[in-house]
Amino acid sequence: MKLAVARLVLGPLGNNVYVLTNEETSHAVVIDPSFEVEKLMAYLARRAWKPTQIWLTHAHFDHTAGAAAMKRAYQPALPIAIHPASFAWAVAEGREVSFSYSAEPLPGMDIPLADRQVLSIDPGEATPVAEVREVPGHNPGSVIFYVETLTLAFVGDAIFRGSIGRTDLPGGDYPRLLQSIREQIFSLPDETILLPGHGPESSVGFEKRNNPYLA
Ligand SMILES: [Zn+2]
Ligand SMILES: [Zn+2]
Repeated sequence: MKLAVARLVLGPLGNNVYVLTNEETSHAVVIDPSFEVEKLMAYLARRAWKPTQIWLTHAHFDHTAGAAAMKRAYQPALPIAIHPASFAWAVAEGREVSFSYSAEPLPGMDIPLADRQVLSIDPGEATPVAEVREVPGHNPGSVIFYVETLTLAFVGDAIFRGSIGRTDLPGGDYPRLLQSIREQIFSLPDETILLPGHGPESSVGFEKRNNPYLA
């Protein structure tokens, strides 16, 4: 399997939207489809990449705004993978938090995620591509997707280069976030590239040495 990662920066909050593709089959998963989902779908079409699933790191609207439109734009409809605690948060709190943005709510949870669950890209293919790790704190049910073969992890808003996710939104928990980062992200090899939901990439080793919140 030859995996490729693409990044698009979309929407009013500058979200990093990632596409993880098996270049041998052209099957792809989309991670955190944000606003401007039509640009994302045009990008996929230009490359003849066929999306098979939508993976969500957490339920904040800027990471899920494009999920409903994307799910129904393809046949069969794309299943949405999200942690049940994040989905429950979206149902209970999501609308209020996204009040000033017209983000379409999540249409449902098709693949409930759990810690250490392995995910594949190709339908009907069991070859594991990514491992789920729970990192609650920024949002209940936040997860990262660790791709060991590429030495990288999609970390959503848990950690950024030199910073961490905000914990002042409903369901946020600052001590829990620090614990999640230490246990679930800093336990990855130092050379692991961290691909966050906003801003530039980093690495486990860089954040261990430089992140002021985790010194
Ligand atoms: Zn967030
Ligand atoms: Zn975000």
